[in-house]
Amino acid sequence: MKTKDDFATQRDQMSALRIQMVKEQIEVRGIHDQHLLNALRSVPRHRFVPPKYHLRAYEDTPLPIGLGQTISQPYMVAVMTDLLALTGNEKVLEIGTGCGYQAAVLSQLASTVETVEFIPTLAAQAAGLLTELGYDNVHVHTGDGAAGWPASAPYDGILVTAAAPAVPDTLLAQLAEGGRLVVPVGGKGVQSLQIWTHTKERFENKTLFQVSFVPLRGAAGWSDADWQSHPDVF
Ligand code: SAH
Repeated sequence: MKTKDDFATQRDQMSALRIQMVKEQIEVRGIHDQHLLNALRSVPRHRFVPPKYHLRAYEDTPLPIGLGQTISQPYMVAVMTDLLALTGNEKVLEIGTGCGYQAAVLSQLASTVETVEFIPTLAAQAAGLLTELGYDNVHVHTGDGAAGWPASAPYDGILVTAAAPAVPDTLLAQLAEGGRLVVPVGGKGVQSLQIWTHTKERFENKTLFQVSFVPLRGAAGWSDADWQSHPDVF
C-alpha cells in the first residue's frame, strides 16, 4: 500500500531530478531562456513514459514509449522548442505527438498547441494524460500530420518530431508570416535539423545540426522499405 506521504516523497524526488536535468543537460549546453527552463522544471516527464521507465525519465536519452515509438531526449525537446523563440502568444502546431511530452512543454510557452499523431492509440493516451495533468491549451488530433492542421492555420511555430524525406509543402503553407518551422530531414540513422522561416513572400532555410528521429509516416513520409534502404543525408 502507498500512503499520501509516499506520493509526496516521490513527487519531491522527481522534482529534484528535473531540476538536476535542467542544470546538467540543458543549461550547460547553452539554453538560457528562463521560461523554457521553468517549463522543463515543471512538466512531470516521468508521467509521459511507461511506469517501468519512471526512474529513468530524467536521463540524457530518448526512451521507448511502446508501438515502436520514443519520447525524445530532454535536450532535443529543449533545443527544438528554443528554436521557435516563443513569447507566450503564439499558435503552435506539432507533428508527432507520441506520448505528449513535447506538447506539454510547448503548452507552457505558447497560447495554443495543436498536435497531430498518426497512431490512434498513442493519440488517445496522450490526450487523456494531457487532460489529466491540466494542459488545457493542447488539442490532440489523430491523422497524417504532413497535412498539417488547416482548421487552426496559420501557425507561428511548427515542430515536426519525426524524420521527413523532405519538408512538406503543406506545412510551409500553414506558416504565418514571421513564423518558424523546425523539421528533421533525412533517412534512417541521422538527419539534418532544418529551420524554415516565413519572411515577406519567401521561405528561408538553414541547416543546423545532426539529429536522429523515428520516421515520418503517411503521404509525405517514409515507406518501410525506403526508410530501411535510404542512406544518411550527411
Ligand atoms: N513529440 C514526441 C516524440 C514523438 S516520436 C515527444 O514529445 O517525445 C514521433 C511520433 O511521430 C511517433 O509517435 C509517430 O507515431 C509520429 N508520427 C509519424 N509519422 C507521423 C505523421 N505522418 N503524422 C503524425 N504523426 C506521425
